[in-house]
Amino acid sequence: MGSEPSIFTKIINGDIPGEFVYKDDKVVAIKDINPQAPFHVLIIPVEPIKNAYDITEENANIAGHMVLVASKIAAQENITNGFRLLINNGVDANQEVMHIHMHMLAGGNIGPMVCK
Ligand code: 5GP
Repeated sequence: MGSEPSIFTKIINGDIPGEFVYKDDKVVAIKDINPQAPFHVLIIPVEPIKNAYDITEENANIAGHMVLVASKIAAQENITNGFRLLINNGVDANQEVMHIHMHMLAGGNIGPMVCK
């Protein structure tokens, strides 16, 4: 038994395609299939943590690593004038994929964050 792997686990495992921009032993970053900015990637831990409710003292290091990776991607992609990092956490935030991920948005002035 066990739950079905997330769409992101399938991409990480190469079972379905993804456009990777970064990879290490803990985290990958892929282009979002439905970009909301000129540059839109998803920074995803290999460990399938569901969301921030499942961050614990034991696994919290991954959150810092995800921010470090965003900074590395910015250097790699020559994003020098700013970017936005965003986590949709849980149902009220419209989290669609239940495998924690950080959106990295950039590409010129992407405007203010918009909430309903
Ligand atoms: P959430 O609402 O969970 O924060 O965002 C999930 C994101 O995953 C969305 O921006 C959506 O476009 C993206 N996404 C969903 N399925 C796929 C997929 O199969 N491949 C890629 N690259 N992105 C996906």
